[in-house]
Amino acid sequence: MNLKEWKPIYNEIMDDFGFSKENDLKSAYLLRDIIKNTKNNIELDNLENIIKNKIVINKFKVEIPNTIEGILKCTNPNCITNMENVAGKFEVEDREPLKIRCVYCEKFLNSIEVRNIREA
Ligand SMILES: [Zn+2]
Repeated sequence: MNLKEWKPIYNEIMDDFGFSKENDLKSAYLLRDIIKNTKNNIELDNLENIIKNKIVINKFKVEIPNTIEGILKCTNPNCITNMENVAGKFEVEDREPLKIRCVYCEKFLNSIEVRNIREA
């Protein structure tokens, strides 16, 4: 099945269940980042083995936590997280629009900067 065939089916599924496409995309990015940045790296083949053919028993809204740890890197080149082997840690100051603060150097990052880190 190609994307052109899949898209209307995907749209119908999302409408039927009342899921947000935007949040689905955010979940996909979040999962990608967790896989990419987690210290005990999950291999994609292994992840497929873990989740394939499993029944979804819990659906929940993904919410931005108060603290984001280990997923994102600070953009300040002089921050200790970029000088030494220290995991990034941010306090969420605002959610809409997203604004987070590095707990080590106090640098604020907005959603555009966060997106750039994630896509780097
Ligand atoms: Zn920093």
